[in-house]
Amino acid sequence: MMAFIQEHKWKFAQIIAPLLLAAWGTVYGAFAQTGSNETVGQKAIKQFETTPLQVVNLDDHIFLFSGDGENIVAVVGQGDTLLIDSGIATRSTELSEAIYKATARPVTRLINTHWHLDSTGGNAYFGSGGVTIIAQENVKKRLTSVQSMPFVGIRDGHYPDMALPTQTYSSSLTLHQGSQQLNLVTYGSAHTDGDSIIYLDPANIVIVGDIFSNPFYPVIDLGSGGSIDGLIHSVDEVLAHTNEQTKVIPGHGPLATRADLRAYREMLVHVRERVQELVAAGRTMNQTVATAPTSEFDAKWGNGYLSGKVFTEILYSSLNKKGTVECSHPSPSSGCAASSAELSK
Ligand SMILES: [Zn+2]
Repeated sequence: MMAFIQEHKWKFAQIIAPLLLAAWGTVYGAFAQTGSNETVGQKAIKQFETTPLQVVNLDDHIFLFSGDGENIVAVVGQGDTLLIDSGIATRSTELSEAIYKATARPVTRLINTHWHLDSTGGNAYFGSGGVTIIAQENVKKRLTSVQSMPFVGIRDGHYPDMALPTQTYSSSLTLHQGSQQLNLVTYGSAHTDGDSIIYLDPANIVIVGDIFSNPFYPVIDLGSGGSIDGLIHSVDEVLAHTNEQTKVIPGHGPLATRADLRAYREMLVHVRERVQELVAAGRTMNQTVATAPTSEFDAKWGNGYLSGKVFTEILYSSLNKKGTVECSHPSPSSGCAASSAELSK
């Protein structure tokens, strides 16, 4: 099938892929709402749809693609390319062409760092071409039912069969591609309950997915089992398994260093402590936000997808163990009105 696609690449891109995407339109349409009250998710999607695709050659055989969603890594082998994440659905053809131009080899394997639509949007495109899709087992579970992301305002799923992972793992998996060994590990729920951290050896690169975006406050998907404590735990594990020379590829934003990751960890721990004190003192979410616990960090970390206020709200909900995801503006479309327990189903 891949050989067919490479031979008839233009026909596939122009005729077949748009049909597949049209069939999938009901899924995409579920979150692509319009209106004056733009959600975090809508803002992010607009950015993913309009940012030019950039390619950086990290090494002779490793390329970083960015702009159309999650940072995407291509690892080139003798006769094929392994891809890590697949961007948003509407730019799959453009991404596929850029990958082929850079690597001159067909994609045969695709790893998803987690289930979110900016990591898995291209799954249908690649999956329909016979590409093996690999992910932590909870990614497949999430993609087979409708998911809501509190605070982000996205509802997504259920993905078509061709977009689902065909190879899953529970706690770790080792793969080889060209000269590289890939160690896929999950350190438990963090950004979601299906996060893969991928270490490339001997390149000394770690791909961390959305447990770290550079330099943004992180989205923590409480509806998918994410938590601030799990996020800090995963970051600690990555720090423990890397060195000062390690190249850190964040979920979004430019290539980072281990020092960047350490600074991020310090910010997370400080804000978590402040919010935890207020939760323990019985403060409401609005009272907690009013103390501006992120103020000293906003200049550096508050210019991404989340403001300090929304990040505080997410931490408050993560640390408040009453089982309810609170939002300042609950609405059925954002999933904010539902309880965490309901959202986790
Ligand atoms: Zn994500």
